[in-house]
Amino acid sequence: MSRFLSNESAALEPYTPGEQPQNIPYNKLNTNESPFPPSPKVLKAISRAELLKMNLYSDPTCAALCAAVAKRNDLKPEQVIAGNGSDELLSFAFRAFCGEGKGCAYANITYGFYKVWAQFYHLDAKVIPLREDFSLNVDDYMDFPGTIFIANPNAPTGMTVPISDIQRLLEANRDRVVVVDEAYVDFGAESCIPLLYRYDNLLILQTFSKSRNLAGARIGFALGSAELIADLNRVKYSFNPYNVNRLSIVAGAAAMADEPYFQKCTSQIEKNRAWTVRELTALGFTVLPSQANFILAKSDRIPGGALYEKLKENGILVRHFDAPARIADFCRISIGSMEQMEALIDEVTKLLEEL
Ligand SMILES: *Cc1c(COP(=O)(O)O)cnc(C)c1O
Repeated sequence: MSRFLSNESAALEPYTPGEQPQNIPYNKLNTNESPFPPSPKVLKAISRAELLKMNLYSDPTCAALCAAVAKRNDLKPEQVIAGNGSDELLSFAFRAFCGEGKGCAYANITYGFYKVWAQFYHLDAKVIPLREDFSLNVDDYMDFPGTIFIANPNAPTGMTVPISDIQRLLEANRDRVVVVDEAYVDFGAESCIPLLYRYDNLLILQTFSKSRNLAGARIGFALGSAELIADLNRVKYSFNPYNVNRLSIVAGAAAMADEPYFQKCTSQIEKNRAWTVRELTALGFTVLPSQANFILAKSDRIPGGALYEKLKENGILVRHFDAPARIADFCRISIGSMEQMEALIDEVTKLLEEL
């Protein structure tokens, strides 16, 4: 810390991203990226002609990208806003729909960034424990008057809340916004998008980082009523009007239009997940029921931290969280290609034999 840092910034507790070793050939199963390259249509779209336009600012409305997202989801373009990753849109949502007298609520075990923004914006945060089995009980949120943030599927558990439960939350108080973070919805879970036709207090966030093989392009999007999206644009134009770069707008639109490739990649991940769960279970692991492109798993024979360390020594990166204590026994393992998962299972088998 320099002596110039403001008290406000000194008080922040920044988010810690998963390790991103550059140019080291790890079997990287720690940040829920896709193991597959972007759609061939993306490679075609990033043409020399597009590169030559990099001297010009990007379209602040991201029209081409929003149109592609709207078309895919049967919505109007004014119901879509694009962001520099869905992280940025989450930040906009915290700013737009929370503030003095309007707090936020989220689970005690969920995406770590919610807490970071609640602090960043000095919000009153109600942190609501998951049940013993890591499921989320929407009844705990029914009376909360502020803005609710739910990751569905949740991270890092991979577990889902039924859409009927989300609907009950929307119905219980039409004057509060429910933000459903669907970063992992494309791996077999059910999206809340159909509820957008009936509820103007629903905001849905999705991302190109996991199911569309574009984590490095930093593209997310939010879906909601035209009014909610206009609110988010108000924050965006107060912060960073050209928030999505030129190449990412082009790449995102192309990826969204390639439905067959998207289906192929996500269904392969679902297959690899089922295989990995079977293998780990056979090795005595407890694996939470995941609908995401990762699993949260623990073995009674080796603590989560030790498993993480041993795998890393052997070239495999997974994610271990020290806190909260309830998940310290677990490791979060991203689902990669079949080769990556076979290498993981071989290594885990070896480690357990050596104990
Ligand atoms: C990965 C992730 C995000 C952020 O995704 P980006 O679009 O890459 O910023 C948001 N929410 C959850 C729950 C995530 O796991």
